Amino acid sequence: MKQKNVWQKYDSKKLKALEAFCEDYRKFISECKTERECTDYVVADLENAGFVPLSERMKGNDLLRPGEKVYAVNRNKGILAFRIGKKPLEEGINILGAHIDSPRLDVKQNPLYEDGGFAYLDTHYYGGIKKYQWVTIPLAIHGVVVKKDLTTTIIDLGEDENDPVFFISDLLIHLSAEQLEKKASKVIEGEALDIIIGNKPILSDKNEKISNAKEETKEEKEAVKKSVLAILKEYYDMEEEDFLSAELEIVPAGKARDCGLDRSMIMGYGQDDRVCAYPSYRALIDAKDPERTACCILVDKEEIGSVGASGMQSLFFENTVAEIMALTGNNSELALRRCLANSNMLSSDVSSAFDPTYASSFDKKNVAYLGNGMVLCKFTGARGKSGSNDADAEYLGKLRSVFDQDNISFQLAELGKVDLGGGGTIAYILAKYGMNVIDCGVAVLNMHAPFEVTSKADIYETYRGYLSFVKSM
Ligand code: MN
Ligand code: MN
Repeated sequence: MKQKNVWQKYDSKKLKALEAFCEDYRKFISECKTERECTDYVVADLENAGFVPLSERMKGNDLLRPGEKVYAVNRNKGILAFRIGKKPLEEGINILGAHIDSPRLDVKQNPLYEDGGFAYLDTHYYGGIKKYQWVTIPLAIHGVVVKKDLTTTIIDLGEDENDPVFFISDLLIHLSAEQLEKKASKVIEGEALDIIIGNKPILSDKNEKISNAKEETKEEKEAVKKSVLAILKEYYDMEEEDFLSAELEIVPAGKARDCGLDRSMIMGYGQDDRVCAYPSYRALIDAKDPERTACCILVDKEEIGSVGASGMQSLFFENTVAEIMALTGNNSELALRRCLANSNMLSSDVSSAFDPTYASSFDKKNVAYLGNGMVLCKFTGARGKSGSNDADAEYLGKLRSVFDQDNISFQLAELGKVDLGGGGTIAYILAKYGMNVIDCGVAVLNMHAPFEVTSKADIYETYRGYLSFVKSM
């Protein structure tokens, strides 16, 4: 089948709308580099659009009416947003579900040490990464420190051009004869991913030095670490012990950028899966008066198996739908089961884009091309579709008719050649309820690298596709 490039079908008016949408998206991924930052940003956008917290809405005695918009936040790391439709919830809802966590380096709980005159933070990587890609690039620290008195300090350091940045060192090429003989998976090992955060010893008080010479030698031993601790105390009122209850994420520093002479692409960190999260919640905001209730799921922990209380496998989604149903006057368990089984979902996640440099890793007939529109993956998985959700042909048939009606450009694709590996998404978890689910999102080049690349045309077309899904399914 011949695929058409999306750019060619847009007129100047559409191109303007595309640029505006992608400009908003670029701002979103530049400002939101963690699941917590995404959550805060999306909540602000939802509130601007008239969504109210479900917990507030539950306080009164009024039932939820068609047209109302509510949202619920899960542990500051995920959101569910609903736009109540005209049809009863029991008939099912239309769901756009994406994840807002991305591969990164997490700071360990006892991270701070000094070696060779440098102060380091020890890390443990999160999600699938090629470790060698993370050395020698400018890094930023994002996250929270929760102290014993339960006050939370937000840390966001390395993004402003006046902020310092951090880095992981690599061996100079001149001495790399041995290192370069190693397998790529061993060139940089997990325990070598420690970030350098300082090199200046603390300047001790002269009088103190004279009064206690013994103390002085002891002090000098970890003088750089001490200096770092003094800075943490001064700026964040933080003690070394406070790392115990901190969540600090090390991510590539800097804003997302237009990419290419023609500015056709966007290069930035964390586009898996924020490039699907953004059009998902924007489509929910922009879908006026849908027949069926529409829902946007933005969830954490996909990159490590959707586990934990903030992952898709937690009951937060199911419990929240139950609350919503109760608030429409229907709190029967059976009605909830029917609602979930009658639902449709697009598991909004990224797919791999064909890369001519590594052409032999892809099946050219069954891979997504950058610029050819929204990607549908009937199945994901590895080693013979293992771990996959395999969407029904019937569901695909219905989606084709809906997307064709709205002239949405889409392509059916697999990740790569069948024996090379694979991956998974949240699709199979929602499919357990018996609802229709298919993977559907944006193609990405350099997936899981510090800087990933997407096509603006694909982003806009996916937004249009999501809108069409919410309106017409
Ligand atoms: Mn993903
Ligand atoms: Mn991923």
